Amino acid sequence: MGSEMCIRDSTAPDDRGTADVAELADALDDASLAAKPKAKGTKTAERTDMREHVNCVFIGHVDAGKSTFCGQMMLSTGQVDERSMQKYEKEAKEKNRESWFLAYIMDTDEEERAKGKTVQVGRAHFETATKRYTILDAPGHKNYVPNMIAGACQADVGVLVISARKGEFETGFERGGQTREHALLAKTLGVRLLVVVINKMDDSTVEWSEERYRECCDKLSPFLRQCGYNLKRDVIFLPISAMKGINVLTRVPADVCPWFQGADDRCFVQVLDSQPPMDRKPDAPLRLPIIDKYRDMGTVIEGKIEQGTLVEGARYVLMPNRTRVVVDSVALDENDVPTAFGGENVKVKLRDISEEDIKPGFVLSDVAHPAPVVRRFEAQVIIVELLEHKSIFSAGYTAVLHCHAIAEECSIVELTAEIDKKTGKRSKKKPMFVKSGGVVTCVIDVEQSICVETFDVCAQLGRFTLRDEGKTIGIGKILKIIDASADEAKKD
Ligand code: GDP
Repeated sequence: MGSEMCIRDSTAPDDRGTADVAELADALDDASLAAKPKAKGTKTAERTDMREHVNCVFIGHVDAGKSTFCGQMMLSTGQVDERSMQKYEKEAKEKNRESWFLAYIMDTDEEERAKGKTVQVGRAHFETATKRYTILDAPGHKNYVPNMIAGACQADVGVLVISARKGEFETGFERGGQTREHALLAKTLGVRLLVVVINKMDDSTVEWSEERYRECCDKLSPFLRQCGYNLKRDVIFLPISAMKGINVLTRVPADVCPWFQGADDRCFVQVLDSQPPMDRKPDAPLRLPIIDKYRDMGTVIEGKIEQGTLVEGARYVLMPNRTRVVVDSVALDENDVPTAFGGENVKVKLRDISEEDIKPGFVLSDVAHPAPVVRRFEAQVIIVELLEHKSIFSAGYTAVLHCHAIAEECSIVELTAEIDKKTGKRSKKKPMFVKSGGVVTCVIDVEQSICVETFDVCAQLGRFTLRDEGKTIGIGKILKIIDASADEAKKD
């Protein structure tokens, strides 16, 4: 596990067809709704701002307008003024990172930038009367898919940015286009809602044409269904102009877009604000997978709380090393808070541990109920698309497993059953192999112990992708942990 694995796995993914994965996705969703808290959590202290925190990841093909849209959100919600924005854009350009200028808004501190932290996923915040949002600007370039995974695995809502401009829409889907892979990964990594923004509606090749908008939506729909999205429940389409900020904070005026004025036609922020609150399981044992760590007058970790409640001053255990730590402070959007809840991205200062002893993928856990440390587990996997020269998935197959912030070498020990995609029934016989499009249950070994959960217990720590030579070949969920060494580990 660790960043070196991410780098190794950052080759260009291919982008041919994906198998029908709706069954798995539905199963994933149903189970997550059914999951029950396992144990009583830590007590909560007072906190004044209790607005729900929602994480949005902006995904899509390079040049679709992700950064422009993120920047527009910041500008129009008053997080940054126009002059500073131009300054950041200029600076980012000078460093040949124009599409990451959002990251420059976030980390105005030169030293932080020099550390290269924001190269991973740009982060920014905005808020409305009812909710607080973090936006994660995932790099769209094909070489950065592992970084996109890091962004998407923290996200509740995916914003798929699609360019309606003539020629650009088409490119996003062709071989090598990122739209498909991003949408698929986002689904697997736990994005509940996908807002598909058809961008550049103001462009001279589009001019708010209803026909072009429908064409984009109609072409996207079957492919989103293939990725496992339930179009009625999980996907919302809307036309926007990120550059001009139209249909972002307020609905597009009738003189600009007369055909988008129905009762259900809403602007971007209305769509986000109207979502029902997510179940964050505040009483479940804490699970905070670590995305990043650094030294800043002490040891600081960053990550998103997946379940439970984090309390300043309380003791926790860092898995898999089982190091006992005390939380010195918890920062949310740069402000110290006494408690933080599921869904919140936090920076946590830890006592009793050195930064060198922490790796991304470690999980800060409840002391009484630590995250399991696992070398072997059984999972259900949908084989999306195998490599041409490795077209059979069987015992002995090796790949890289991505699960929350983990990227770890893994190998298939045995296939335990094939699942009939139509009926969901398991085969009685153990299959010798499956090909692209197949669904199997199998036993998987990872090279080094990782902290995961079964999907039923904590969906975010129980879903994963398998990647091989930079391509997503399978997506899965953990059914059973076969080797959990957490309980046997020496307690200090
Ligand atoms: P990213 O790679 O997805 O982050 O895309 P960028 O935000 O860097 O945008 C790519 C290009 O598309 C830039 O030249 C933008 O100015 C342009 N662009 C983005 N949004 C719009 C829009 O709403 N309308 C028009 N006409 N151009 C846009």
